[in-house]
Amino acid sequence: MSIVSPIRIFRSAAKQKPVQPVGRRFLVGLVLASLGVSTSCSATECNGKPDALGTSRVIAVDPKDHPRIGTMQYPETLPLADHEVVITFDDGPSPRYTDRVLEILASGCVKATFFMVGRMAATFPDEARKVEAEGHTIGTHSLSHPFTFGRMTEGQAGQEIDGGIAAVGTALGSPEKLAPFFRVPGLLTSERTEAAIASRGLMTWSADVPADDWLRISSAEIVKRAISRLEAKSRGILLLHDIHERTVGALPHLLSELKTRGYKVVQVVAANATSAKSETTPEQWRLPPARAEEKPAVADAPPSTAAPTKKAAALRRIEGSSSRLGGAKGF
Ligand SMILES: [Zn+2]
Repeated sequence: MSIVSPIRIFRSAAKQKPVQPVGRRFLVGLVLASLGVSTSCSATECNGKPDALGTSRVIAVDPKDHPRIGTMQYPETLPLADHEVVITFDDGPSPRYTDRVLEILASGCVKATFFMVGRMAATFPDEARKVEAEGHTIGTHSLSHPFTFGRMTEGQAGQEIDGGIAAVGTALGSPEKLAPFFRVPGLLTSERTEAAIASRGLMTWSADVPADDWLRISSAEIVKRAISRLEAKSRGILLLHDIHERTVGALPHLLSELKTRGYKVVQVVAANATSAKSETTPEQWRLPPARAEEKPAVADAPPSTAAPTKKAAALRRIEGSSSRLGGAKGF
């Protein structure tokens, strides 16, 4: 099957804020911070709500430059400054939960990235379009969410990847509304799968901060784990799912806690003809070493990046059981 240059096909999601170069904004932020000036969104930028978390900036990335991100599995992650977070949701769209996630995010003027499952988007296309209409970034998460990417041939992986892109693109009315971002189900990747992803010009997204919202834990525990792990890394990509009641229950408290602790939300889009690639340095794509006093307080914090295989197996077990429990048609 011939693949027409995905980089040309894909465009970043519509209705995005102007893209700001990371390096310049970071330096400006440092200068403003030294002057005691906040660079976060003002109340007027979020419907007059002074307590809203908001979205502080948008960065544009090129998958060719950084094809794999997320320190749960890879050396690199997004070029975030201290106390910056990128919020992601997997496995939807689901009318039962995604609607409420969108309401909560809109209330706080927060923009996130949704990694949609093709069959979910095909079943609930209106929900997929709502996400896009709200200006969030949309990536894909395969056609049917199999947990077998680690064993697939490159061709098989490619079929699942292409099927997901086609289904979500159809639901949205155009593949141009998709970002070239892909997250492997269960993070169960392999060299063959990553070759299939890279050959399509896609960026593989792992994550930096899991919140364990696929487990049978309380919403309060989701907030606790997300915050403690984020504090340990000082920044990063937060992994959530818009197919669970407990995640919906956690979200308002999570956004409030992020605001209280001085975190700022960053939206990520794909660099293209209208969104120039953000200026970064190689060092910005690597997390600084975690400070000892800020290591996760939770007992079952995820293992270090030195053991991706074990971690992936654990994720497969828990995400698989969670999906069966989550009423998400087995995805
Ligand atoms: Zn998933």
